[in-house]
Amino acid sequence: MRYHNTYVHLDPRLYHQQPPTPLKNPRAGHFNLSVAEQLGWTEDEDLMARWVDILGGEYVPAQFEPLAMAYAGHQFGQWAGQLGDGRGLLMAQVLDDNDQLQDLHLKGSGLTPYSRMGDGRAVLRSTIREYLCGHALNQLGIPSSNALGFVVSDTPIRRECMEAGAALMRVADSHIRLGHIEWIASFAPDLLSEFTDYMIDTYYPECRDSDTPVLAFLQKVVERTARMIADWQLIGFAHGVMNTDNLSITGSTMDFGPFGFMERFNPAWINNHSDHTGRYAYQNQPAIGHWNLNIWLPHFMRLEGVTRETLADCLAPYEATFMQHYQQGLCRKLGLPHQSESLTIAFEWLTLLEDNLLDYTNGFRALLGLVAPDEHPYEQQLLLTLTSELQGEALQAWEDWSTRYLAQIQSFPIEQVINSLKTNNPAYVLRNSMAQRAITAAEQGQFEEVARLYDLLASPYTVQDIATALDSSPPAPNAPQMPISCSS
Ligand code: AMP
Ligand code: MG
Repeated sequence: MRYHNTYVHLDPRLYHQQPPTPLKNPRAGHFNLSVAEQLGWTEDEDLMARWVDILGGEYVPAQFEPLAMAYAGHQFGQWAGQLGDGRGLLMAQVLDDNDQLQDLHLKGSGLTPYSRMGDGRAVLRSTIREYLCGHALNQLGIPSSNALGFVVSDTPIRRECMEAGAALMRVADSHIRLGHIEWIASFAPDLLSEFTDYMIDTYYPECRDSDTPVLAFLQKVVERTARMIADWQLIGFAHGVMNTDNLSITGSTMDFGPFGFMERFNPAWINNHSDHTGRYAYQNQPAIGHWNLNIWLPHFMRLEGVTRETLADCLAPYEATFMQHYQQGLCRKLGLPHQSESLTIAFEWLTLLEDNLLDYTNGFRALLGLVAPDEHPYEQQLLLTLTSELQGEALQAWEDWSTRYLAQIQSFPIEQVINSLKTNNPAYVLRNSMAQRAITAAEQGQFEEVARLYDLLASPYTVQDIATALDSSPPAPNAPQMPISCSS
């Protein structure tokens, strides 16, 4: 592995160097061979042989320089002060096979000076959810952290009941959160300039070509955040806890807790059980992204040449960037070019899904069964299931819509339409029920279901034999939601 530890050379007030606290009797959960190859981990026999010991915190390779990062944040709209890292350590930074810097971050590694009232640990169920979700988003083509693997252990962890301690080696292009700047602004304002230089040089070096590198950098963060959230909306992903400490400065999805993938389409859907006001409901995500950036940007006014006006100019394109990316993506999901007629029919389609509480993922995928049924038996079946839920006026509305849609696609080469439908509408996402089945088995020591989901979600746009009917079954309409809450 090509180690490139740079964070550890920043001002020591920004972190606390310490090793992980070992878990008792760590055992393999799952190992992500493709991430290992990406990192060059597979070329090192010692790392390969001892990955469970490393994730279990028992063995720290010589080139690792573990540290807990200091950051703060706004949680549910309120300033929460210092927050982390209370249960994770940045273990090492490496250059991957694409020369991209990657952080190896061990989550669930024990107490740090920033643990507050927590125990520094992560339980198996949240570890599995994070492991599978990072993998799923990456394979769907959405910027996200991923993971090298996870372990389970005999360390008992108290939550609502006793659970097994686990640890995940998260891999992300950065672990710098918006909340890092909030921490600096509150606790070490003299470091802002040095830290901003580090962020630009490390993550946005192209901004050095600008006359105003700081503003160019901030514009890029705004743009990448807007695009990431557009990707979420398109795929039907709800992050669940978009606090400023959970958003990366690289516009890459991170910190999975109460996330979910949309099933029966309801824009007001709240996946996070602890989110009583629906602040982080699916439909609020674009506005919350803006809220977070709006509260974050003024910290940079301490820097020379950055004013209220220039910051406003950085944030202004957020909405247009989001809308453009979202609308282009929505048209692609229907196999249509980005133009006003396409958007009209797309929004009618979303209304149809919403009015009838149809499954978002299956609904879009079923369009292949409408456009080219003979070549797509799986999607033809999805379409039959979907239309079997419609009656009376709803069925009529579907028939009207599908007639107009089929007429609209006539103007374009059919292969192009099919290809666009196939590559923008996954056959599989990580439904809460799927993750839960894998968790239930894993809690009994059986990891085969985690492995099967890993394989399935490795190719989400391809219909696969290893899938079961449950992988594409939404809950019954108006069924009570599975309770998924914050940090566990
Ligand atoms: P989250 O809502 O999961 O993003 O967590 C917010 C903050 O609380 C993060 O900075 C975590 O490091 C910290 N935290 C969450 N769970 C624990 C825990 N069990 N022990 C210590 N710190 C924790
Ligand atoms: Mg967090």
